[in-house]
Amino acid sequence: MASAHLNALGRHLALAGFMGSGKTRLGAEVANRLGRFFVDLDREIEARSGSRIAELFSTRGESGFRELEEQIADEVLRARDPLVVALGGGAVLSERTRDRLAVAAFTVVIDVDAEIAWSRVAGGDRPLAQDEGAFHALHRDRQPLYEEVADAHARDVDAIVLAAGGVHVELGALDELGVLVPGDGPLELVADEHVSGIHGVRAQVALGTRDIALHEVPAGEPAKAADVLERLWAGFTIGRDGGVVALGGGSTTDVAGFAAATYMRGVAWTAVPTTLVGQVDAGIGGKTAIDLPGAKNVVGAFHWPARVVCDPSLLTTLPDVERRNGLAEVVKTGLLTGASLWERPEPEQVRSCASFKAAICLADPSDRGPRTQLNLGHTFGHALEAAAGYALPHGRAVSLGLLAALRLSGLEDERRLVEELLAPEPARVDPDAAWAALARDKKARGGTPRLVLLDAPGRPRWGVEMPEADVRRALDDLIA
Ligand code: NAD
Repeated sequence: MASAHLNALGRHLALAGFMGSGKTRLGAEVANRLGRFFVDLDREIEARSGSRIAELFSTRGESGFRELEEQIADEVLRARDPLVVALGGGAVLSERTRDRLAVAAFTVVIDVDAEIAWSRVAGGDRPLAQDEGAFHALHRDRQPLYEEVADAHARDVDAIVLAAGGVHVELGALDELGVLVPGDGPLELVADEHVSGIHGVRAQVALGTRDIALHEVPAGEPAKAADVLERLWAGFTIGRDGGVVALGGGSTTDVAGFAAATYMRGVAWTAVPTTLVGQVDAGIGGKTAIDLPGAKNVVGAFHWPARVVCDPSLLTTLPDVERRNGLAEVVKTGLLTGASLWERPEPEQVRSCASFKAAICLADPSDRGPRTQLNLGHTFGHALEAAAGYALPHGRAVSLGLLAALRLSGLEDERRLVEELLAPEPARVDPDAAWAALARDKKARGGTPRLVLLDAPGRPRWGVEMPEADVRRALDDLIA
């Protein structure tokens, strides 16, 4: 029986699949991105038994080996801290292992064509990869077992991480919402009123077989208000078997997610972000919130969405200013990963950035550690926004913030690159008000801002305190 887990949050991430599918290589990379320990089951068996797999097969026979494999798989999958575990190709033959996976792991099957797998393993000492015909037959025979344990299928690192975070990225995914929204209970569709007019009908048609009620919320940031939240609570009729679907940008997913977090002490929700900011950032990771007058995001909850559905084709209707807001986050993510993500086509930008955000948030769901790096450029950006009374576009504020962070990081080449890519005009704000806002920042300690800087692209450092005069000069440089 497949376990039907929705993500790998707080549980093991197991990689299953045939010999030669790349589980060991992919597993090591995924573990690194998730900040988890990696266990390759075959290497674990060899380490504990002191013998190579081929030797164990010849001395104990296949059934003796399988017993040992089942025992060690069971022990590994009982570890308390969530691991990334690459299973041997035949580990799923054991019913006990399949049952343990269903209880303790989110299992991703790494798909591989038999010809490709054979080209990778032929000529080696794997006991079951000595005859090409038998290898192909085994590949065919194992498929139903892989299907049985699969919570998801993937072929590369980004796809594994996205699946582990419950994030689905696909052009045209909006039309598949009926299948992609987990569960079969009734749904409350919460939509940005502007987006509802553009994409709402397609969403409703796709959800058509589900029992749905539509709730429109104000376009953009005004949705994140207590009265809107109260209207949603009062309008919902679902029970705990129902769910909320949020269609809109980060403002809509923030308020709808918070409504879902609090209604009946928490119901499941699906984010369907329709902005670039939403698809690369806001829709992912489970932070939900509303604003209070003059204070952004001060009331909220962590409530991981049951699924995030990113359809990059929805971005074709996005106004230019909103696309630029998103590009600032793409450039930020590129600087954090060390890859020029902004040069990729938009759907690939979404896939790479969504995968990066999902990995960081899986590693630090409650924002107490590595998730802080996502604030690169935002400490200065937030200060400028606050000083401007939130009249400054977020993307422009973040772009300016990135320039300051890169200057303080001593990365002048990257600073010039960001200047060319995002060309943010300096902000027209009161420098003292911006400085006061920086000192009040949530991450400041004793009035000294704690910054996210880069040792180099792809090597962020957070919690950095710099001499006040340097920070003030970097901030003043952003102000017209
Ligand atoms: P938004 O939701 O505020 O929407 C901006 C505008 O774009 C609105 O007018 C909206 O109607 C319009 N729009 C949205 N999708 C459209 C589409 N496909 N076509 C045409 N118009 C469209 O924008 P945003 O930048 O996605 O969200 C900003 C909010 O996200 C902020 O409140 C911020 O605090 C929040 N946020 C949250 C997180 C998080 O982790 N929860 C992360 C980043 C940002």
